[in-house]
Amino acid sequence: MAKKTVADIDPKGKRVLMRVDFNVPIADGKVGDDKRIVAAIPTIKNIIERGGKLILMSHLGRPKGSPSPEFSLKPAADRLGELLEKPVKFVDDAMGDKVKTAVNSLNDGDVLVLENMRFYKQEEANDETFSKQLAALGDIYVNDAFGTAHRCHASTHGVARFITGPKVVGFLIEKELKYLDDALNNPTRPFVAILGGAKVSDKIEVIKNLLSKVDKLLIGGAMAYTFMKAQGKPTGNSLVEADKVDLAKDLIKIGGDKLVLPLDTICGKEFKEDTPTMTAEGNIPDGWEGFDIGPKTVELFKNLVVNAKTIVWNGPLGVFEMKPFANGTFSLAQTIADATAKGAVSVIGGGDSASAIKKAGLNKAMTHISTGGGASLEFMEGKGFETLDILDNK
Ligand code: ADP
Ligand code: MG
Repeated sequence: MAKKTVADIDPKGKRVLMRVDFNVPIADGKVGDDKRIVAAIPTIKNIIERGGKLILMSHLGRPKGSPSPEFSLKPAADRLGELLEKPVKFVDDAMGDKVKTAVNSLNDGDVLVLENMRFYKQEEANDETFSKQLAALGDIYVNDAFGTAHRCHASTHGVARFITGPKVVGFLIEKELKYLDDALNNPTRPFVAILGGAKVSDKIEVIKNLLSKVDKLLIGGAMAYTFMKAQGKPTGNSLVEADKVDLAKDLIKIGGDKLVLPLDTICGKEFKEDTPTMTAEGNIPDGWEGFDIGPKTVELFKNLVVNAKTIVWNGPLGVFEMKPFANGTFSLAQTIADATAKGAVSVIGGGDSASAIKKAGLNKAMTHISTGGGASLEFMEGKGFETLDILDNK
C-alpha cells in the first residue's frame, strides 16, 4: 500500500495541482483555528522551494453546490500567506477562464489558491467533465487532504483519473497512513484499543475490525451502556441504543476476554455540570444516568494500557466537557501519555478525542493524533480509500 509521495516527483517548472484540507473555521472573515493549514505547510514548502507552480484546491464548509461568500477560501489563502511569509495568490472561482488565466500567470515557486470546490455541485458528484477540467490545470497531482480521503469527489478522486503526469500523496497523508496502518496492521504487542464516544452505531465496524487485531479492546463512553444492557444489567436512564443490543450481544461473544467493559459508572441525575452525582457499582439504578467510567474501571483500564506497546484510542470515555464526568477521559489520556513516554506507539483518532487530549494539555505526549475524524474512523473500520488506491504506488 506504499504510495509515491511528493519526495518522488520533480516539481521544477511544473504545475502542481494539490488537494489540501483547508476546511477551517471562519469568523468575521478571518481564520480561527488554523491547524489544518499548518498541517499542509511541509508539503507546500517542499513543492515551492523546489520551483513548483503550486495550485491548491480545497473545500470549506457546506455551501451546497453554489457560491456563498461566507464559505470563501480567501481568508484561508491570506492565512497561508502569513504562515509562508510570502504572497499567496487567490482566484475567486474554481473553474473556467479566470482560473486558467491565473494558473498560466504563475512563476516557479508561486502559490495559487482556487475558490471553494464545493461552490460547484459537480465537486461532490465526482463529475467527469469537472474532473477533466481540473486535471487540465496541472502536470502533477498531489493529494494531501487526509480529512476528505474517505470521500470520492472530483478534487479528491475524479481529477486523479485524468491527470496525465504523476499522482502522489503529500507528507500529511503519508504520515497518517504510516501511523494508522502500522498500528492497525503491524502492531508491536500488547496492542490495546480504547473505544468510547456517544454511540455504538457510529463505531460498530470499528469494534468488529479492531477485535480481530487487538489483544484488548476497552469500551467506555455512552456505548458501554448498550453493552451493559446486552449483559442483562439495568442501565437506569443511560443512553442505550435499543436496536443495537443484539449486536452488542454478538460482539461480546466474538470478543470473549479481549473485550473489557466498565466495572463501575459515575452517574448524574441530569445532563448538566451541577447535577447530583453518585458512583454505581455494576448496575445503574433507576433515575440515574451514566456519564463517565468509575474509579475501579479507571484502575482496570490503566493497568491494561500502561504496559501496552501499541495503543489506539477513539472516543472519550465520558462527558469530558463537564468537570464531574471528565476524570475517566483525562486519566486515561495521562496513562496513554505515560505509556508513550516508555516507548509505546499511541495513535488517536476522532475529533472529540483530539479536543479532549488538547484540553488535557497532552497533545505533544502522543505519537500521532489524526487530523481526519471521519477518515480515521473509516480507516479503523478496515476500509480502503479509493482516493488513495488511484494514486501511484512506489
Ligand atoms: P470522537 O469525535 O472522538 O470520535 P464521538 O464523536 O464518538 O468521539 O463522541 C464524543 C462525545 O461522546 C463527547 O462529546 C462526549 O461528551 C460524549 N460521551 C462520552 N461518554 C458519554 C456518556 N456516558 N453519555 C453521554 N455522552 C457521552
Ligand atoms: Mg465526534
